Amino acid sequence: MFEKIILLPSWFMALVFFIYGSFFGSFANVVIFRLQQDPPVSLFKKSYCPHCQRAIPVYLNIPILSWFILRGACANCSKPFSFRYSAVETLMSFLFAGLFLVIGWKWFLLEALVFAVGLVSASFIDWDQMIIPDSLSLSGIGVGLLGAFLNPERSFLSSFLGALIGGGGLLLIAYLYYLLKKKQGLGGGDIKMLAWIGAVLGWQSLFFVLLIACLLGTVFGLTIMLQSNKKLMQTAFPFGPCLALSALIYIFLRESHSPFLSLFRIDLSVF
Ligand SMILES: [Zn+2]
Repeated sequence: MFEKIILLPSWFMALVFFIYGSFFGSFANVVIFRLQQDPPVSLFKKSYCPHCQRAIPVYLNIPILSWFILRGACANCSKPFSFRYSAVETLMSFLFAGLFLVIGWKWFLLEALVFAVGLVSASFIDWDQMIIPDSLSLSGIGVGLLGAFLNPERSFLSSFLGALIGGGGLLLIAYLYYLLKKKQGLGGGDIKMLAWIGAVLGWQSLFFVLLIACLLGTVFGLTIMLQSNKKLMQTAFPFGPCLALSALIYIFLRESHSPFLSLFRIDLSVF
């Protein structure tokens, strides 16, 4: 069914996905900002200035570029807009183009794009508030399982076990940490996020994702520790962005058939 589109050169399609990505980055900004409002603001409300609440006209609301067109400030009240909006849009553009190039025309591409929007949104909310909203992680598990059920390229059993082991495995680590340290190390949000990753990438991804996320977390934790002069174990930092980045690295390695991943393969044929 994709034959006609496949004929277009891939650099052209990557550019198309880059532009799509910027719009979905814009959508991610809306999710990140509005899910943090109390009560949350509808995702369907028109874009508005967070300071003066005035609606932003469509011609000034161009992903990536609008921050530069507006010189980083609201056209109405001149209060500054964070550069992060453009940064998130640019990040999503590169993710969309990159995922297209590495995955190609497969049903999994659609799932990976949805997954990327969810992961980036969850990461920035976790960064801001040290919370991963259930509305993202639990619906992510649902969408991941549904995708495995509908997508003939994926195994439902692998996805189901991924959600189960991802959630259960991290819950076990969190419990052991609690027994040893008598305080909570991992948040419930991280546990649901790993279950979400397992549902989308299958149980085979979990060992790699968790290991690389812990490595990233250590680097990240050390950096924060050096900046804040606190001890490592007392430094609180969001683990969600580490899990998200690790899951994205896994997709890029798996889809490009990287031999590096075989180092992390768990061989069950002995059983
Ligand atoms: Zn304003």
